Amino acid sequence: MDLEARGANQAALETRAAAATRRQFGREVFVRAVVEVSNFCRENCHYCGMRRDNRALDRFRARHDELADLLIHHRPASITDVNIQAGEDPVATREVVLPLVRTLRRETSLGVSVCLGTLSPELSGELHAAGARTYIIKFELADPELYAQLEAPGTLAERVATIRGLAAQGWQVSSGFIAGLPGQDAAALLGNFRLAAELPLIGCSVSPFVPGDETRLATAAASPLDLTLNCMAALRLLRPDWIIPAVSALNLAGPGEGYRRGLRMGANLCTINLTPEAVRGNYLLYKRDRFIMNEERILTALAAEGLSPARTRMEDARAGLTATATVR
Ligand code: SF4
Repeated sequence: MDLEARGANQAALETRAAAATRRQFGREVFVRAVVEVSNFCRENCHYCGMRRDNRALDRFRARHDELADLLIHHRPASITDVNIQAGEDPVATREVVLPLVRTLRRETSLGVSVCLGTLSPELSGELHAAGARTYIIKFELADPELYAQLEAPGTLAERVATIRGLAAQGWQVSSGFIAGLPGQDAAALLGNFRLAAELPLIGCSVSPFVPGDETRLATAAASPLDLTLNCMAALRLLRPDWIIPAVSALNLAGPGEGYRRGLRMGANLCTINLTPEAVRGNYLLYKRDRFIMNEERILTALAAEGLSPARTRMEDARAGLTATATVR
């Protein structure tokens, strides 16, 4: 796969990726909501503003009853699933996420995903028993030395073991990696595909590296949008059946245009951000004028690409699918 493809070669890659996506999923794209419940984090990843050493960040934990009200009574009509996301904060998992999952399962038909970092098997088991079905846990990068150098969570081997453990616990697991991290050469980038293909996943994201202001990598160069898009297309060709999100950071790397290009390069999942505005300012992902995706923007992007929101929950569409593949 040519991850540096441009011009006619990139157009050919786009055509193949789009065709593979349409063959598998038709013209429907999953639309989920995300709510961020805590920006406390006990990890210290150099590429993230929520890392524990960032003393400049006001930390918050949301209230589960307020989020439940939002999701039960005021959610966008197009969503079928919700992703509950936080820094690695077991306190928030117990006090906010668990009651929220239980309420959503009782009061709505939404599929429930969580993205909460590395938790104990007991705590992830409680979440699964409460009704969450998809666990999103990115391995971030497959190069063990760079992983340690960037202080990504634990060790790479531990992260991989956690991913396997979650799948064994019955979760549908989705992972992800960052394209274009400082220090990541071509071989290291390819290693991400190899690792992803070996893992028991139902989906994988590719995020562009975007240097955050309050991170250890603030002065590093952002990765090119084309690299991220080519990685998404390559992932789609590697695993036609996977759920591959169009991450909102595509807009930061390529304002306006980036998101729609992601939909052409293999993405089949859009995310509407429902984090209440009162706390959004402290959630570091949104600083630096990140382009927030609301329902209107997503439906406009989908319509412009001749696509429509799926009516099937992700967790139903993907239930029981945990196959592996080999990199060619
Ligand atoms: S990337 Fe995740 S685990 Fe790492 S510091 Fe940020 S929120 Fe914490």
